[in-house]
Amino acid sequence: MAFEGLSERLQNTIAKMRGKGKITEADVKEMMREVRLALLEADVNFKVVKSFVKTVGERAIGQDIMSSLTPGQQVVKIVNEELTALMGGAESKLTMNNQPPTVLMMVGLQGAGKTTTTGKLASLLRKKYNKKPLLVAADVYRPAAIQQLQTLGKQLDMPVFTLGDQVSPVEIAKQAIAHAKAEHLDYVLIDTAGRLHVDETLMNELIDVKTVAQPDDILLVVDSMTGQDAVNVAKNFDETLDLTGVILTKLDGDTRGGAALSIRSVTGKPIKFVGMGEKLDALEPFHPDRMASRILG
Ligand code: GDP
Repeated sequence: MAFEGLSERLQNTIAKMRGKGKITEADVKEMMREVRLALLEADVNFKVVKSFVKTVGERAIGQDIMSSLTPGQQVVKIVNEELTALMGGAESKLTMNNQPPTVLMMVGLQGAGKTTTTGKLASLLRKKYNKKPLLVAADVYRPAAIQQLQTLGKQLDMPVFTLGDQVSPVEIAKQAIAHAKAEHLDYVLIDTAGRLHVDETLMNELIDVKTVAQPDDILLVVDSMTGQDAVNVAKNFDETLDLTGVILTKLDGDTRGGAALSIRSVTGKPIKFVGMGEKLDALEPFHPDRMASRILG
């Protein structure tokens, strides 16, 4: 399961407090030091850690948990609430356009899981909300990317819009949306090109696609296993494209959880979904409170 490291560390810290009749302010400080180490070990951004520990420590001392009969539990409760707040508080849903189609622009670096996630999300929209999605192959630089989306479309029995690799992504997006309107489809999911690194050409092209497609959501797909790199990628994409949300993939293999904990507070943008495996149904809405409870064990 994800977050074993962090969860274990926090639990050990908290176990030390449990059963303690009375604790002192020094105990709280000691505990906050452990929480800090646990978060840093989990590869959480250091600024995020700093302010998190400060908030929790102040609340713990302010609520006078020292005189509480169950100080350990009190601290757990505060940590839980603050972890939830750190990850955005409540679930953040997809935007829906009153005039279909709703356009979702999927962006991300190569290998993050963008194409797979595009398929997963379309499948979820159909299954859960009974919507008709259109998958759009706008990665014209890797012929394999178009094929990959077509294969996904076949697996899901879902239409895929492609104009091959000789037409610009901007034109593809434009025609795909017109096609979706004509066919009364509800969602257009544009699978844009990924690169190995964030670069100017990639960003400029994405800006052009954004201008033309006027997406209701711009979702960055990032690999949670890359930890703080994922956070930096998110920051970069957000500065250029003004994202509306993030999808964190490969959470099933992430034992640290640093990206999940840092992204919201570094970028201000919510995690909307998480990828929990390679299968096409392994995509879940992100619930900050559930994630916090999972981290705390
Ligand atoms: P893209 O280059 O960003 O389009 O990445 P792909 O969609 O081709 O995915 C890259 C690899 O990551 C593939 O092997 C996917 O099966 C895998 N992948 C995507 N999402 C997840 C996830 O949530 N969990 C796991 N374990 N693997 C994933």
